[in-house]
Amino acid sequence: MKIIDLHCDTISSLRRARKTGKSLSLRENPLHLDLRRMRQGGYALQTFAAFVDSDEEEDVLAACREQIALFYEETGKNSDWIGPVKSFAEYEENQKAGRMSALLSLEEGAVCRENPDILRELYGLGARMMTLTWNHENGLGYPNHAELFGENHLRVWPEERGLKKAGFTMLEAMEEAGMLADVSHLSDGGFWDVASAAKRPFLASHSNARAVTPHVRNLTDEMIRVIAERGGVIGINFCVAFLRPGWQPGDSRGGTREEMTAHMRHIRKVGGIDCLALGSDYDGIAEAPEMEECSRIQTLCETMEAGGFSTREIEKILYGNAERFLKENLR
Ligand SMILES: [Zn+2]
Repeated sequence: MKIIDLHCDTISSLRRARKTGKSLSLRENPLHLDLRRMRQGGYALQTFAAFVDSDEEEDVLAACREQIALFYEETGKNSDWIGPVKSFAEYEENQKAGRMSALLSLEEGAVCRENPDILRELYGLGARMMTLTWNHENGLGYPNHAELFGENHLRVWPEERGLKKAGFTMLEAMEEAGMLADVSHLSDGGFWDVASAAKRPFLASHSNARAVTPHVRNLTDEMIRVIAERGGVIGINFCVAFLRPGWQPGDSRGGTREEMTAHMRHIRKVGGIDCLALGSDYDGIAEAPEMEECSRIQTLCETMEAGGFSTREIEKILYGNAERFLKENLR
């Protein structure tokens, strides 16, 4: 079965490795995800995030550009196996040619420096989705980040801590340009600001269900319903903290297939089958999930089947819904 995954942090992990003198490649590496194992796993498309931690970088835009360059360098070297895509037609061409596709996303809206011209420049470089925040407050809005709230993973900002004025302006510019709005990491107030201001479908590329696991990075039932009603998608995140109720740091057992399936069942019940997708977060999560490497991602199918999903539904979650979303919204 084909695989489409809406989020991984492999490019930023490669960049970090290079900075410490290790020259890792996208083709074959010791991380969770590389091209050789993606081929084994049956991948059709992987979204690669240019992820920037604004606490660690002096120049967030430069850090982002470096990763975009790395994305093209690595996909260019491996054009026998994968090709970068900016449109659905390019994805279809890769499919016909038997090549995998790589889609570029941005994780940290601060890279645009509240300037829509920079957003359009990054769109021109091929980025097609962007989270408005990562874990830090930025010029666009506020995040939901567990560490902000100590032990209580459920405390969230009051609703007024949503999008800032520049965040609303940026959202409008994103929709005009064709940059898909990604609400993963955003505060609850920010989510509802996007929901009220957005005119186009939006997605949560790597978030789970809060009713199953009470964590601020997960979505409430109301959020799931709104994303689904608008034709958006939700990528199931393999990070154990978002999967397992009561998880505490120090519990090193990674997320299990059954836990992922439990979140899928809940999201199906609340939002329907058509909003479910994958957003593994490979190479962005500390505790490796049960399918530690991307080559083993197909092992999810058996657990999903045992958990009450039909073959048609499994197809929708593993690639069909994401494919439909990209077909309708990539431009
Ligand atoms: Zn993330």
